Amino acid sequence: MTDRYQTFTRTPLGQTLVKNLGLPDPVPLQRWTEGSRVIDGSVVFGGIGETEAGKAIQALLRDIGATFSTATEGVASSQIRPKALVFDATGATSTADLTSLQRFFSPVIRQLAPAGRVIVVGRTPELATSTEQHIAQRALEGFTRSLGKEVKRGATVNLVYVAPDAHEQLDSTLRFFLSPKSAYVDGQVARVGTGPLVGNDPERPLAGKVALVTGAARGIGAAIADTLARDGATILGVDVAQNADALRKVITRLGGSELILDVTSVDAAQRIAAHAHEQYAGLDIVVHNAGITRDKRLANMRTDTWDAVLDVNLRAPERITEHLVEAGTIRAGGSIIGVASIAGIAGNNGQTNYATSKAGVIGLVQALAPKLAEKQIRINAVAPGFIETEMTAKVPFTIREVGRRINSLQQGGLPVDVAETIAWFADPASAGVTGNVIRVCGQSLLGA
Ligand code: NAD
Repeated sequence: MTDRYQTFTRTPLGQTLVKNLGLPDPVPLQRWTEGSRVIDGSVVFGGIGETEAGKAIQALLRDIGATFSTATEGVASSQIRPKALVFDATGATSTADLTSLQRFFSPVIRQLAPAGRVIVVGRTPELATSTEQHIAQRALEGFTRSLGKEVKRGATVNLVYVAPDAHEQLDSTLRFFLSPKSAYVDGQVARVGTGPLVGNDPERPLAGKVALVTGAARGIGAAIADTLARDGATILGVDVAQNADALRKVITRLGGSELILDVTSVDAAQRIAAHAHEQYAGLDIVVHNAGITRDKRLANMRTDTWDAVLDVNLRAPERITEHLVEAGTIRAGGSIIGVASIAGIAGNNGQTNYATSKAGVIGLVQALAPKLAEKQIRINAVAPGFIETEMTAKVPFTIREVGRRINSLQQGGLPVDVAETIAWFADPASAGVTGNVIRVCGQSLLGA
């Protein structure tokens, strides 16, 4: 649904009121469209010393054809407005090195172009070789999260932690965070570890892959199907009988196949596995998107209401994942993605059942990531914030307006924003990305 307030703020009267009354100013975000480049503008790169990560970042910037200049301490801002500022902080070995952040960013931050990108790359703190390094690297989180709240005009700030010897795995993650595909991902921390090097076509990274998407008939699920198909995947869409017509439309548009089933049915996992083996000899991507809400304060919560939400949102992904892994349906190099929610991180009044289920999805990712790594299968989750869908259109006006505005970008996200994040997780080139939970929430105030 349209954000009428945002439309109004784009009018001359709206801009006057926004400026004079200090009202929220939700700048329209720039999203990926056919023909978009990874980054449309220049990049200023800086860092602490020469590092392997720094070299990998500069190689990528050359690869994507970005014009970039390097800057370190005290360098005055360039004349042109950079579209991105990328800082390699992997060389920070003690808190004394953190000074470099201020030296690099303060002179140039005001110059950042609208819908600009700030990316800080650090070394995974838990894998630091000294206490001093661990502290310095962990400190980067406070810096990026605060800067995310300071930059305006649709710009985002994210932190990427890279494990030692994993710098060659940075490509797909940096491409995502630099590009319009990450328009609504702000104030996040991504972790990149080691993995096999996969050289695929960044334009069609999922060519030849088969993706299961549950709840694919509408909303976020339909956007996920669209986006994964755009990237080359064949879609196996699943939804309930009530939404069979809508699912058929999605599959007719994209190709692939459909399976009408309730993910909570006892044989759901077996039917999915049988279909996937018959049609495609297996699956490469599994997206557990199907989800429901049944909001009630706990004092008024009935057992069937509680169970329905836990069954669809958590037990079904748990059971289906277990069976698809055991049956060998998910091929090596595969990627499983859970759809959590910021309610599962921050909690929400009237959503004890929903938040329990979504926090459980995060648990599923954290518990399985190390185990599935042995089978070369990755598992990650997205945690959407306020996304403009049929679900949020039903939320009462005042709560909806608050939900839209209480984030750094001062607007709701679109289903495609969640889908793009899932496409980054699904990309075989993201072989080092597992165990991540990335919020797609415009840096919502809820849940840190
Ligand atoms: P939606 O209600 O528009 O779509 C959900 C889809 O899942 C529907 O097509 C529905 O038929 C299907 N589904 C539900 N139960 C099913 C079952 N038992 N078996 C098979 N299919 C089933 O919801 P949405 O807003 O697109 O949400 C998609 C996911 O994103 C959900 O997991 C939701 O919890 C999560 N999410 C949404 C938001 C938001 O702001 N919209 C925020 C956070 C998380």
